[in-house]
Amino acid sequence: MGIFRLLTILLIAWLVYALYKRYIKKKSKNLQPRKNRKPEKIVKCEHCATHIPEHEAIVDKGRYYCSEEHKRISNQQ
Ligand SMILES: [Zn+2]
Repeated sequence: MGIFRLLTILLIAWLVYALYKRYIKKKSKNLQPRKNRKPEKIVKCEHCATHIPEHEAIVDKGRYYCSEEHKRISNQQ
């Protein structure tokens, strides 16, 4: 019965290895979106043409401004 015991041990070892591999793959997959995040979009101020990251820009009617001041000035014209 020695061979069956050996086969069982090998099967369990393989299962553990397969599950471990799957776990690692899943883990790295979950980390990927954070790692490969797209670089931020750069937008141009409608008033002074300064380039700024989108999240820092002030958006008004589809136009980007570097500051509230420039938004105000542009809207006055
Ligand atoms: Zn500006």
